[in-house]
Amino acid sequence: MRIIGDYHTHTIYSHGTGTIRDNVEAALNKGLKEVAICDHGPKHYLYGIKKKDISKMREEVERLKEEYEDRGIKILLGVEANIIGFDGTIDVDEKLLKEIDILLLGYHYGVTPNSIMNGLGMYILNPISKGLPLGRKSSLELNTKAFIKAINKYPVDLITHPGSKVKLDIKELAREAYKHGTALEINSSHSQLSVDNIKIALEEKVEFMINSDAHKPEDVGNVEEGIKRAIEAEVPLQRIRNILRN
Ligand SMILES: [Zn+2]
Ligand SMILES: [Zn+2]
Repeated sequence: MRIIGDYHTHTIYSHGTGTIRDNVEAALNKGLKEVAICDHGPKHYLYGIKKKDISKMREEVERLKEEYEDRGIKILLGVEANIIGFDGTIDVDEKLLKEIDILLLGYHYGVTPNSIMNGLGMYILNPISKGLPLGRKSSLELNTKAFIKAINKYPVDLITHPGSKVKLDIKELAREAYKHGTALEINSSHSQLSVDNIKIALEEKVEFMINSDAHKPEDVGNVEEGIKRAIEAEVPLQRIRNILRN
């Protein structure tokens, strides 16, 4: 099992170590046909992209697209957006949406929420309630609903590492994601989706993508972990968007 493209790679524009060109070169060396540059959304206070950098990134991608046209690799610019409120708001506005080719969405600690209430719930109570039975069910419900609201509001292509960092109702999320054409990620750098959660998602019609979540160029296209889990969960090939068929 091989992938045709890696749609989740980071660069120096957030906290990756390579440039956009480095990731493109790495993808080419791995025999990939497509690579997406998806750095963290601007509301991550440690390593979110700077809004002013987006047009610079776009220009760079356009330049590289021209340069690499004959080398058989397609380059996409995206963002790994953050969910910033229980109302499903994400840190990507209309302007940024117009600049990108692919929209990823994930939950990350260290995000500036859109209100104090959301801040308490999403980024303080969530980490605290992790190990406690008390309040766990409601936070799971709230988090799941937040993702569902987000995919209703925005054209999200992929939910990254669903269930990592914050627990989600995978079955409910998978059902809604299918309705909106949103794929769920089998992330090779995070433990989610786990084999068990892939099996739960398989009960719905949702599709998957297997990505590296590379933070350094040499990890671009490294998806062995994800492939291993997909095989173990017996995911049919036609359910994986970026798998090489034939
Ligand atoms: Zn992430
Ligand atoms: Zn990532």
